[in-house]
Amino acid sequence: MRITSFSDVSLRLLMVLCAASGEELPTTRELAETVGTPYNHVSKAALKLRQMGLIEAIRGRGGGVRITLAGRNATVGGVLRVLDDHSDVAACETAAGECPLAHGCGLRGALNQAREAFYASLDDVSLDSLSKKPQGGPVSVTLSTRPAN
Ligand code: SF4
Repeated sequence: MRITSFSDVSLRLLMVLCAASGEELPTTRELAETVGTPYNHVSKAALKLRQMGLIEAIRGRGGGVRITLAGRNATVGGVLRVLDDHSDVAACETAAGECPLAHGCGLRGALNQAREAFYASLDDVSLDSLSKKPQGGPVSVTLSTRPAN
């Protein structure tokens, strides 16, 4: 099971923003640098996360991006259910067209059930809890990339 790169970037943004102190808001460009992803990808992910109400953009001097309460409480499973690719786990195609076993194939449904179990196993994992892991966790960055004014 593999999540899409869009989901991965989105989860990274949420973890970084959960870990941010809140005193100095990072810009989207700074976030792109922090998560090591091109700005245009981060910008698209940030737009979607804003539409989902998980982050918000604060305008004006000192403005930037910050996590909302909903974003802090969001779970990895919940976010993935919205963002991830919901096509069948198996492509069910061969070079000649549809898989010859497609009619009456039980594997396809079993694989899709396994994906649901994968999401369900992440339904109790909040983004906030991930960002607080002391060492070796996914977020060990500080958001201090903004140049001093
Ligand atoms: S065997 Fe079933 S799951 Fe696998 S490609 Fe064919 S139809 Fe899809």
